[in-house]
Amino acid sequence: MNNLLEAHHISKKFGNFTALNNVSIAVPKGSIFGLLGPNGAGKTTLIRVINQITMPDTGHVILDNEALQPHHVRDIGYLPEERGLYKSMKVGEQALYLAQLKGLSKSEAKTRLKYWFERLEIGDWWNKKIQELSKGMAQKIQFVVTVLHQPKLLIFDEPFSGFDPINANLIKDEILRLKEEGATVIFSTHRMESVEELCDHIALIHQSNKILDGKLIDIKRAYKTNTYEIGIRTPDDRQLQREMAEKFTVSPANFKTIGDELKLNVKLQEMHTANDLLSYLTSKGEVSHFVELVPSANDIFIQAVKNN
Ligand code: ADP
Ligand code: MG
Repeated sequence: MNNLLEAHHISKKFGNFTALNNVSIAVPKGSIFGLLGPNGAGKTTLIRVINQITMPDTGHVILDNEALQPHHVRDIGYLPEERGLYKSMKVGEQALYLAQLKGLSKSEAKTRLKYWFERLEIGDWWNKKIQELSKGMAQKIQFVVTVLHQPKLLIFDEPFSGFDPINANLIKDEILRLKEEGATVIFSTHRMESVEELCDHIALIHQSNKILDGKLIDIKRAYKTNTYEIGIRTPDDRQLQREMAEKFTVSPANFKTIGDELKLNVKLQEMHTANDLLSYLTSKGEVSHFVELVPSANDIFIQAVKNN
């Protein structure tokens, strides 16, 4: 089987409130899987089920071809959403302690930690107290401790919240690198726009239901509207507007003149290809901009909510 993890028909209620309703996901080995959805959607609940912190009411989880059981905890590196470190301990001391809890020997833990601290350029934090660290700094330490023992599955719950854009990018790059080294990654986020490019697969969760999942490129393809954003410099704007309105069904209101450039969005009908449009435009002037508008995960989410 090619999936490292499968969650089948997971449902969970807290009192009368349904936090997860019959949600299934399949995470292929070596892929990055994004659990996307707004706050309160049920992402953390699913992650906690996978980490055996929460018992589901129904459904089951398969990890590497086995029904999920207590010993699997060792195979999963989990960065929880609520991140607590012991405030009065020193950074290095704390990291060593946590690494040993994951089964690494002290000397192995030290070697690996030194490597990671250098990678992330935080070597001089080793002797700082945790309480001296900002939220983002503490989160970096926890990221390191989560990945240090090289588990086959990494689960990051909202790994980017709490980071500034520079550090969020750094963590993104590290996640991609971990994938290249063979890890399988699940992460959740409520800020879909910024991280979707990380994902091979996504599942959109909305009000405890999965409303869409699949390969990101397939989903993007399915939700494309064949719309192109165009910039062109032409000797006769009006003439072009008239002609285009006839040929490609664009309304005149769509045209904007900015400086010496005419800007417009064109939604192509079935009978036209992007090449038809482009060769028409190049015959009329100098094309400065020609980009297909691809929907973001957020656009897709909104559309998927409507369709449901
Ligand atoms: P997300 O991670 O997508 O933001 P959560 O899975 O944390 O969402 O929560 C989904 C819903 O379940 C929320 O409305 C939350 O208040 C509720 N919930 C989560 N855990 C508990 C709990 N232990 N007791 C009661 N309600 C809970
Ligand atoms: Mg959450």
